[in-house]
Amino acid sequence: IVRLEDVRLSFGKIEVLKGISLSVQEGQSVTLIGPSGSGKSTLLRCINRLAVISSGEVFFDGQQVTAATNINQLRTKIGMVFQHFNLFPHMTVLGNVIEAPVQVLKLTPAQAKQEAMLLLQRVGLADKADAFPAQLSGGQKQRVAIARCLAMKPRVLLLDEITSALDPELVGEVLAVIRELARQGMTMILVTHEMQFAKEVSDKVIFMDGGKIVEQGTPDQMFVNPKNERLRRFLRAVI
Ligand code: ATP
Ligand code: MG
Repeated sequence: IVRLEDVRLSFGKIEVLKGISLSVQEGQSVTLIGPSGSGKSTLLRCINRLAVISSGEVFFDGQQVTAATNINQLRTKIGMVFQHFNLFPHMTVLGNVIEAPVQVLKLTPAQAKQEAMLLLQRVGLADKADAFPAQLSGGQKQRVAIARCLAMKPRVLLLDEITSALDPELVGEVLAVIRELARQGMTMILVTHEMQFAKEVSDKVIFMDGGKIVEQGTPDQMFVNPKNERLRRFLRAVI
């Protein structure tokens, strides 16, 4: 459903992605790991054209992302959640979740509310529907951000270090939601530093360093029998 072919991207004179090719099948969870600055976030951002590539091709569902004339239409199908949950502070939890379905998908508020309540149940926050973001913990905010994203019925979810800004005791509740989504067959591309989680939830793990894919494989291949010395060094440092 997502395919990158020899993608290169530069910021000024600095090439940040140096010929990335990868593919993600529908229903797969693919995890990007690698040192800081290796290009993981930039790679995710290429997929919905938040970052503009210099050469190569990005395909989403057979469509050329670079050539898409209606990028907003495309972006409704590619959900993205960031490290810092940018919820609308002046809206309730429910308001946050129904905003885009009403404005963009043109659902009636009643329809949107009904679907939103189901999503809030899925992330364990139905009782917080009327709360404001400021009244929630970090983990709860991040779960609302996930529900808000799912409300658009995306075909793919891009998750960029969504637990990195959380207190350690709140990480588990957010990972539990992602684990459940993976089990239900949601297609996801995630960047995480939680190696144990990556091992457990991924169909494929991709190790990046210096803007290149250095090694990719199943969690077992990557974590139990890593071939590349850079990957071994990285794993020794982070596990
Ligand atoms: P981290 O684990 O720290 O989040 P990352 O693997 O996500 O790192 P990226 O954020 O993709 O790394 O950044 C890759 C490189 O691109 C870095 O050297 C970064 O400084 C550079 N970079 C990222 N965004 C920009 C930008 N908007 N302008 C210029 N350089 C950028
Ligand atoms: Mg990053």
